Order: sequence, then structure tokens, then C-alpha cells
Amino acid sequence: MFNIEEHKERIRIINHGRTKWPQEKNITKLYQMACKDLGIEPKTISTSTASHLPTPEESAKENPQSKFSILCPKCNKKSYVLRGICKGCKDAEGGVYKTMFKCYECNHVEKSKEPLVIWMQRLGIEFGTQSKQSLGIKIVTDKGEK
Ligand SMILES: [Zn+2]
Repeated sequence: MFNIEEHKERIRIINHGRTKWPQEKNITKLYQMACKDLGIEPKTISTSTASHLPTPEESAKENPQSKFSILCPKCNKKSYVLRGICKGCKDAEGGVYKTMFKCYECNHVEKSKEPLVIWMQRLGIEFGTQSKQSLGIKIVTDKGEK
């Protein structure tokens, strides 16, 4: 489970490490070095959680101004999060649907035939040269969200 307090704490520790050792690029290493430096017991974290940017869902929970989430038409909370759909997977229904919104409060889901870039433009998300992964947008596949 994603824990915002833990996440913030980890970011704070990593930032401390970044200031002390600006040449170190390995986040896991930075975290461990910074923990030592601060006298904190490092928590075991997998590399994937340590190095990933908050997903739109996480950033929406953390930051209510996040552009990735919009008002859910069902529960009216700002918890309707944009996701991509994998072209070859069941939810795409043969490539017809490309994106979907899913509410993390009431689980309401709506699929869209419009591609991710269109939705990002609509939501005013500056994506530039960033990939879906680096933006933290999840892709819905038959094997769950990636
Ligand atoms: Zn909802």
C-alpha cells in the first residue's frame, strides 16, 4: 500500500542525500547514505518504489491541484484518474478504446476512444518529451495495471 507520509519522508531523506552527494545518481544508494548520515534506520524498499515518481493517483491524493485527476461524475470527488489502455488487451476491445478514467474513491470507470496525448492536452498536462512511464501514467493490461 502506498503511504503518503512514508513517501514524503523518503523524499525528504533522498533530498538530503542529493544535497550532500550531488554526484550520486543511484536513489537507493542515496537513500541509504542519507539514512546513515541522519542516523535513521533505513526501511527496506524495493528499487521500483524507491525510484518511481508518484503515479497520477498518488500525486492526486497528495496534491489536490493535480491535473491528472478530475471530478468523478458518479461520486463528485476529484478522484477520477486518467489511465492508458494497452492496445492488445481485453479492455481495449480490439484497439477501439485507448484511455480510461477510473475513480479511486468509488471505482467508477469510463473508457474513451481518444488517445492519451489528446487527454493530456485537454487536461493541460505539459508532457514535452517525457514518457508515460516517467509521467507515472498507468497502463491497463490483462495482467493488471503497469
Ligand atoms: Zn467516484
